[in-house]
Amino acid sequence: MKKWECTICSYIHEGDEPPDECPLCGADKSEFVEVKDEAIEQATAAPEAVAATPTVTSPAPQKTMPASAPLHGIQALIDKHHLHPITVHTPNGIIPMAVFFVFLLVFFGSPSLGKAALYSYTFVLLSMPVVLFTGYSMWKTRYRGAMTSLFKIKITASVIATILLATLVLWGFGQPSVLEPNSSGRAAYLFFSLIMLAAVGIAGHLGGKLIFSSRKG
Ligand code: FE
Repeated sequence: MKKWECTICSYIHEGDEPPDECPLCGADKSEFVEVKDEAIEQATAAPEAVAATPTVTSPAPQKTMPASAPLHGIQALIDKHHLHPITVHTPNGIIPMAVFFVFLLVFFGSPSLGKAALYSYTFVLLSMPVVLFTGYSMWKTRYRGAMTSLFKIKITASVIATILLATLVLWGFGQPSVLEPNSSGRAAYLFFSLIMLAAVGIAGHLGGKLIFSSRKG
C-alpha cells in the first residue's frame, strides 16, 4: 500500500492513488507526493542513514524564506514559538465568557454584566492585530499561503468574527444604553454576539484540526 503526503498540511493518505482532495485541508490531488516506505523503514533501523535519503519522491516546496529579510525572520520566530496558537487563546478563551455575560444581561438583567462584556470584547479587539498577524504569518510560512477550502472557511470566519467584534465594541461605547437590562437593542446585541461566537468557534475548530490531525503539530 502506497503512502501519500499532502504538501500543504502533511496529512498522510494510504492507497494506490492520492485522494482527489485532501480530507484535512482540501488541497488538490496535485499537492500530494508519494512517501517511500523504505525511507520510513530506514528511519526506524538507522536514523543517521536517513539524512541523505529524501522521504518523498519529489522535494517538498521551500517553506521558509531567507533569514536576511526582517519580516521573514519574524515569521520564522512566530512559527517556531507557536505564537498563533498561543495568542488565539485570547479570543477563544474570553469571547465565550463575554457572550455568556451578555446572555445573563438579557435574561436576568444587571448593568454590570453589560459593562463586563463590553470591556472583555474591547480587550479581545485590542489583541486581534497580533492574533491575525500571527495567523497570517503561520499560513504563509507553514502552509505556503495555500487557498484550500479549509483556509477559505477559516479566513472568512476570522474576518467575520473580527468585524462583528469591532461592531459590538463600537456599538457598546457609542450607545451605552444598549447594554442596559431593559434596552430594546439588547436582544440584537446578543444575537450578533452569538454569530461572532460561532465564527470564532469555526476558526478555532479548523485551527485545532490542522494542528492535531496533521504531522505538522
Ligand atoms: Fe492537506
